[in-house]
Amino acid sequence: MIGNIDKERIRRFETMIEQANRIITLTHVRPDGDALGSSLGMFHFLLSRYNKTAKMLLPTPVPDSLKFLVDESARDHMFDYETSEAEVRKAISECDLAICLDFNTLSRIEQLGGLISESSCSRILIDHHEEPGEGFDLSFSVQKISSTCELLFHILMATDKISQDASRLPHRCAYSLMTGMTTDTNNFSNSTYPSTLEMASALIAAGVDRDDIIDKIERQYTENRLRLLGHVLKDRMTIMPEGVSYIVLDKKTLEEYNIKEGDTEGFVNIPLSLAKVSMSIMLKEDKDRIRVSVRSKAGVSARLMAKSWFNGGGHEQASGGTLHIPEDIPSIEMAADYIENAVHSFFTTKE
Ligand code: 5GP
Ligand code: MN
Repeated sequence: MIGNIDKERIRRFETMIEQANRIITLTHVRPDGDALGSSLGMFHFLLSRYNKTAKMLLPTPVPDSLKFLVDESARDHMFDYETSEAEVRKAISECDLAICLDFNTLSRIEQLGGLISESSCSRILIDHHEEPGEGFDLSFSVQKISSTCELLFHILMATDKISQDASRLPHRCAYSLMTGMTTDTNNFSNSTYPSTLEMASALIAAGVDRDDIIDKIERQYTENRLRLLGHVLKDRMTIMPEGVSYIVLDKKTLEEYNIKEGDTEGFVNIPLSLAKVSMSIMLKEDKDRIRVSVRSKAGVSARLMAKSWFNGGGHEQASGGTLHIPEDIPSIEMAADYIENAVHSFFTTKE
């Protein structure tokens, strides 16, 4: 048995789905492969096995790099608050079941958090972050697992409809779950458990085209992205004596290279390839805030760093957060000073 996926919970999961007429899925802001993969996995399962059309709600739009996941049958049922506020509000006010995927606190779904807390719908949580939120009618929260997609896979496999036979999963469901698991593990380079490989094995046997997924997530970038990466590694990466590297990407540079949401995916992992680096921090200037990504090697906590210094959190080795101007720093030019101070304090306090 994986985590708390016991028979009784699965029966409740099935009953809640059977009794619901208007189902929504919710996932976190700036959705990544795991967030979208789990939303679409759930959508296709409900559609094919229960003939129920869920609405997939997002705080912010799908990045271009992940649009390949949203096939024709799903396109008209996915709404983001930024471009379709009215539809999102309507869907939340009408729903009788909300399935919350890949987040643990309402702040991660921004404005949708306030809307959902006013709604009287039933709620299911399926998530792999530490400190799962309260107030769910049914909660599947497992941390020793690769991803929300993997957790959803094991839940669906345990249902009567699928009965541990992955070939019964709708094809698009299986494809979406495999994609989210692959992105959250960086193609099996982190958080890979025996259960993760069992999932991969079952899905490949069931006909999921892994080569196609790798092609879509790793081989479709723009030339500009690679040029920017070259520039960043040569001129913008600072390595501190503490074994921490940091990169600050300001708006001007991002515009110069015509960088879109999703284009800098993966940059933050690269400095960890150095033997002397145990933590990598990347700051990216956004419209009205600075987005922070933190990654670390085992034994150093990216999560604590993100929580203590960047108003965020996440997983032990992969976390994120936000810096606000002027509350946290007066301008992006001061970002390097802020990080240097944060790193000195973080490593001094620890010892
Ligand atoms: P990324 O660096 O890819 O944006 O985020 C990595 C991970 O950090 C995410 O999967 C998520 O778990 C977590 N994360 C990112 N931003 C935030 C944030 O603002 N708050 C919290 N609590 N977690 C975050
Ligand atoms: Mn995830």
